[in-house]
Amino acid sequence: MNKKEKLIKQFYKKLNNKIYNLSINDIAESLNIIILETYGQSRIIQDEFEDYIIILNKDLHSCQKRKIFFHELAHYFLKHLDTYDTLTNYDYKYMEKEADSIGLLLAIPPHELKNFDLNDSDIIIKLYDLYNLPLQSIEERLQIY
Ligand SMILES: [Zn+2]
Repeated sequence: MNKKEKLIKQFYKKLNNKIYNLSINDIAESLNIIILETYGQSRIIQDEFEDYIIILNKDLHSCQKRKIFFHELAHYFLKHLDTYDTLTNYDYKYMEKEADSIGLLLAIPPHELKNFDLNDSDIIIKLYDLYNLPLQSIEERLQIY
């Protein structure tokens, strides 16, 4: 298990009894993150009380919503918001890429994926049924295992 995988396992271990099936509402609630479903661009912000708010576009399909939630959660997990104001364009692009890949690891955690047979020809459909993410994200997730 590499360092990233360990950190994700620990992260979920702390939330263990408070979340069911990686429900985004349960995860947000147990981290005191507010989910705000509205129009416009999805993102994570901190309000004047330093509470985290993940803004999700309400028109998105549920699996897109989950994908984006985990991307924004990755910014939280990686503590990106602390440095957001001082970023260069290059840093910003790097952080977005990092949030994309860590988001996929948070959405289908390595310690859960290891229970699956990755050679199973139905693996993508099985993961889709369980994790409710866009098929393309599942394919990307399988490439970073
Ligand atoms: Zn982002």
